[in-house]
Amino acid sequence: MIQDLGRVFAVPCRPRAAPLLAAGLLAFATTQALALDVVFDYRFDRHGFFDPATAVGAERRSVLEAAASVFEPLSDALAPIDPGGTLGSWRVAFRHPSWSSFFEEAVVENLSVAANSVVIFVGASPSNGSVLGIAEGGTITVTGGGSDFETLVTTRGQAGALDPQPTDFGPWGGSFWFNSNTPWHLGLDTVGLDATKADMLTTATHEIGHLLGMGEAPSWGTWVEGTSGNYRFTGPAVTALYGGDVPLDPIAAHFGEGVFSTVDGLPQETLMDPTTARGQREFMTALDYAALSDIGWQVSPVPEPATNALLAAGVLLLGARLRRRRH
Ligand SMILES: [Zn+2]
Repeated sequence: MIQDLGRVFAVPCRPRAAPLLAAGLLAFATTQALALDVVFDYRFDRHGFFDPATAVGAERRSVLEAAASVFEPLSDALAPIDPGGTLGSWRVAFRHPSWSSFFEEAVVENLSVAANSVVIFVGASPSNGSVLGIAEGGTITVTGGGSDFETLVTTRGQAGALDPQPTDFGPWGGSFWFNSNTPWHLGLDTVGLDATKADMLTTATHEIGHLLGMGEAPSWGTWVEGTSGNYRFTGPAVTALYGGDVPLDPIAAHFGEGVFSTVDGLPQETLMDPTTARGQREFMTALDYAALSDIGWQVSPVPEPATNALLAAGVLLLGARLRRRRH
């Protein structure tokens, strides 16, 4: 099953038993040449979860920015959405990022989206469930402007997005909801990230991955084969790296649980598997970046050299713990 624009984007990510404790390392502090700009919009943050006037709100915003920086190696030329005049108008409806009831909707009219950027509306509200966060792309309605404007809004000029078997994806952005009942770890490093806490950086990175199409874009569906319970991803970059088709989860929205790849040559479970363990920080693996490539993103070599050393040290520690725990 493949979801497209207008459907719920993220399968909720739930904590898993036997969490791992990752030692502290700052992996995202190094700035890279900006390519894809992920812009966060807080207008629907009705509970002030991300209020920059509070220390904790500011810290949460910094975590989102760190997650966004992970996707700077994406260098597609996304066309701007600049509605108005003869260009036509558009609206997008999505789950309210701070919903009071699960199906509460938020609507934005004629959002302008700059070239090479996506906009993500963020918020939080309390939920008793174990879901950490939900991301979705919303439902787009285009009025006037002809088919060209509709194509612009829905593909951002990525021509392959219109192929019968889509090879590209050009989203406008999406919405994030975070569960404010979750005991979040907010650090950019992992000091204090223990088995009682869910890592916001890991969750935010995973959810941005969904909004950029992983598990969700029509061009992801192009590479899904098999049937429920036996879905496999067959994209050329992914299969070349993995040495064959990669198992997917039962709804083909993630890599299969426990699919491993590498971060800077060292083993780590893929970020885009269905779950995130409490106490654990996960990074984008080589296989996650390969999947972005297969669904149409131009992916520069990652990570940058200056980030490499930090990342390698962090993953060494994580890898050592993985081996101990998984005996
Ligand atoms: Zn997910």
